[in-house]
Amino acid sequence: MNGRACEAIAAGRAFSFGEIDVAFGEGRVTLTGPRPGRAPRTLDATVEALRRHVRFDDRGRYRPLSGARTLPGGWRITLPARLAGAALEAVYPLAALHQAQAAAGTLRVAPFAETAARQRGRYRAAGELDAAGRDLARATLCGGCARTPVWAGESASAEAIPCPEACGPLLALCREAARWRAEPPPPAPPDGGVPFAAFETPGNELRETLLLSLSRAPSAMARG
Ligand code: SF4
Repeated sequence: MNGRACEAIAAGRAFSFGEIDVAFGEGRVTLTGPRPGRAPRTLDATVEALRRHVRFDDRGRYRPLSGARTLPGGWRITLPARLAGAALEAVYPLAALHQAQAAAGTLRVAPFAETAARQRGRYRAAGELDAAGRDLARATLCGGCARTPVWAGESASAEAIPCPEACGPLLALCREAARWRAEPPPPAPPDGGVPFAAFETPGNELRETLLLSLSRAPSAMARG
């Protein structure tokens, strides 16, 4: 593979990836999370410990979106250098592969309409959201994600993590927004204790942000 992250790992060269910094030395790799401060906590030296640690944000909320810029802060982990790829995968699944595929021109990118049309059950309603509402939903969720939504036409640099298709949380947010277009619920004060993807729950931070944006944007029922 020839993505920037894979090249850096092969060369033992330091690089940044999403919210983490990666450095090499003496046959080992060290990953440092955001806001390391002067004395970051050292995690147990296993990929599984890293995987467990990044599952929850600083408030203890489960992270259903691996790319969300909500990684817990103040930590680092040192592993044998041969585990660098597995460590990246634990934090950002498929990201190095997608980056390499984008560099090779083989990344398969699916437009929103195609992804929405594949959905079954409740998620199918995501495709009913008008284009303006979808753009606002994307800005709300993808704007806080370490991946770049190339499926929406954004261009990703060689160092970026390209996102080839709309993820589950975005489809869920679009599904809710389609309902809100028909019957806007009243706003509620943002509550950082509400789970990240509980978009049906008043106070969910993303819900309240998007509701405000939708209230300022005209509805267009035509699908784009
Ligand atoms: S669709 Fe947006 S929020 Fe979801 S993974 Fe891709 S870039 Fe991130």
